[in-house]
Amino acid sequence: MQYKIAVIPGDGIGPEVVDAALTVLADRETRYGLELDYVFHDYSADLYRRTGRKITAVEMDRIGSTAHAVLFGAMGLPDVRGPGGLELGAQVEMRAHYELFASLRPVRLFAGVESPVKANDIDMLVIRETSEGMFAGLADEHEPSNERASDRMTITRATCEKLFDLAFSQARSRRQRGTPGHVTLLHKSNALRSNVLMEKVFDEVAAKNDDVGSAKFYIDVGSMYMITDPGRYDVVVTENIFGDIVSELAAGLVGGLGVAPSADVSLTHGVFQPSHGSAPDIAGQGIANPTAMILSTAMMLDWLGERHGDGLLTKVAGDIQGAVETVLADGPRTRDLGGTSGTQEVVDAIVAALPA
Ligand code: NAD
Ligand code: MN
Repeated sequence: MQYKIAVIPGDGIGPEVVDAALTVLADRETRYGLELDYVFHDYSADLYRRTGRKITAVEMDRIGSTAHAVLFGAMGLPDVRGPGGLELGAQVEMRAHYELFASLRPVRLFAGVESPVKANDIDMLVIRETSEGMFAGLADEHEPSNERASDRMTITRATCEKLFDLAFSQARSRRQRGTPGHVTLLHKSNALRSNVLMEKVFDEVAAKNDDVGSAKFYIDVGSMYMITDPGRYDVVVTENIFGDIVSELAAGLVGGLGVAPSADVSLTHGVFQPSHGSAPDIAGQGIANPTAMILSTAMMLDWLGERHGDGLLTKVAGDIQGAVETVLADGPRTRDLGGTSGTQEVVDAIVAALPA
């Protein structure tokens, strides 16, 4: 089967890491005759600054109805702002447009990577809700003011049910791969009404999935456990802003943003991107760590493989994951991981580590 992949490289290091991922994919396309048909889209904060153009609903409809998946680099430049004072981000618009309600962020300490904490059994999946929560009011009417500004946290039962169903099914499939397979909700129901509902729905879904263990912590103490005892987590599920923060905290335990992949999904659409942003501080120098983007690409193949019952894609995802693990263990490494190598050297090593 031929797959259409919409590719949005974006800003800063986005295009650099997307190039890296496409180099790895190209090797597997040749090896197995995979048919990936890329359609590139030039949306970026830089384009907006130059021309005022940004991604539109019509364009997202077109992409969403023709592409099997979206591969996304990173978008945003801190000094490029829209009319409301917020940064531009097609990733944020796609989350709303495609109702991508969950961002799956695997956090695993690979051999060869040093953690700033003592734990050595870090292997979790942070699921960040991405369609509502603290970002629910992004499209609200807004009167700019120098005196007062607010945001809105809204949580719905419908999204919670989908989100927690996904969390429990992920725990079940992770268990087959050897993790304990349980789900922890991080929330703030002691102080936020929206989170009272979130906790209630979690309890209901947990009761229906009683073959899978569950736990709950308030987000504050849960964040402390992330540092003091990360081994207690398997699948972690949480609200939008909590998940944004806690997933990067967790990424910091296992080598940082350069190795942190993500998959933003709904029941029908998927946008695959690293957890990091455009990293303007290192853009254009050829030193970005391509690992997060390459692992996100493997997540895309896994997701496509499952959706289309295509075992070849699942196999290629495994090849790529394995090659990344080999290179993390043996080097070469980029500077964020204590090495001295550039992006290209790491990509070449990953390609060389792929099974013949
Ligand atoms: P960032 O993730 O871009 O960078 C944070 C730090 O991590 C920087 O020091 C950077 O050099 C480092 N880093 C990130 N990725 C790396 C990689 N692959 N290899 C080596 N080092 C890496 O976050 P930021 O600086 O807060 O934001 C920069 C811009 O990116 C902003 O405009 C922000 O809005 C945007 N952003 C976009 C996304 C997205 O596209 N999904 C996500 C986060 C931030
Ligand atoms: Mn973030």
